[in-house]
Amino acid sequence: MYYNESTLVFLDGNWVKASEISVSLYSQTLHYGIGVFEGIRSYKTEDGNKIFKAKEHFERLQYSASKMEIDLPYSVEELIEISYELLDKNGLGDAYLRPLVYLGENMSLQTESESHVLIGAWEWGRYLGDKQLDVMTSSFQRPNPKSCFVEAKVTGHYTNSILATNEAKRSGYDEALLLDLNGHVAEGPGANFFFEKDNVLYTAPKGNILQGITRQTIFELAEELGFEVIEKYFTPTEVYDADGAFFTGTAAEVAGIRSLDCKFFKKPWEHTMGYELASAYKNRVQKKEYKNFELV
Ligand code: PMP
Repeated sequence: MYYNESTLVFLDGNWVKASEISVSLYSQTLHYGIGVFEGIRSYKTEDGNKIFKAKEHFERLQYSASKMEIDLPYSVEELIEISYELLDKNGLGDAYLRPLVYLGENMSLQTESESHVLIGAWEWGRYLGDKQLDVMTSSFQRPNPKSCFVEAKVTGHYTNSILATNEAKRSGYDEALLLDLNGHVAEGPGANFFFEKDNVLYTAPKGNILQGITRQTIFELAEELGFEVIEKYFTPTEVYDADGAFFTGTAAEVAGIRSLDCKFFKKPWEHTMGYELASAYKNRVQKKEYKNFELV
């Protein structure tokens, strides 16, 4: 699914076949979850391939690497150039790009200095699909921000996301919603969360969440559309009473939510601000304009 015999990836300055790469079983990343990564989307637009907010994603990769004391010997500009080349070499347009910085052999608990930079890409549908989601409040909390850098995209952080997703799926839901250490709503396993009440949007403030690049795009689009967005702490109980809700993320884009803990939101998805924002987002990534709530 992610590669075939002819797929090329970028690895440490070379273009190599994905099927021919080998990684040491003693990689520190494999044992301890210390690696940093990004999830980026490219869109085939009228002006050719466009990697959405490439600069912001690679700046976050650099931030994540620096927090974990991982060597990342490429500039943002170089990483962007490599990414466009990767798409061309593999004949990809609408694609998902996965840069990963993983580490060499080291069984100690101090960051290994040998790092490897991999960028691969593949075609990937919307992560949470297109149907409105039934979501459960997870019994797992997001990590305490004093236990890690929550704003860094570190491989090991995702064991928390996997536990929450497994629990939600096992319980018959589509997705999980995780609380922070104080019992306030934080985010999904791989996406930020917004809800709508009386024509105002609410989302968790920074501090206990990954500050999503899509979340930031939603702030920008909301401003353009004249929608008010308030960042504040809130509990699931407050969300039960909402008119609508949605997740935002590079892989998920803007994904509508139908219910939280079997409490159904008041408005049909098509009548919510989230729906308008989902259309606006679709247009923005395609670099089109958004006028009068219509796709143009
Ligand atoms: N929160 C978490 C935990 C995530 O993994 C992601 C996906 N990167 C997001 C939020 C959304 O971030 P972005 O919009 O930058 O993809």
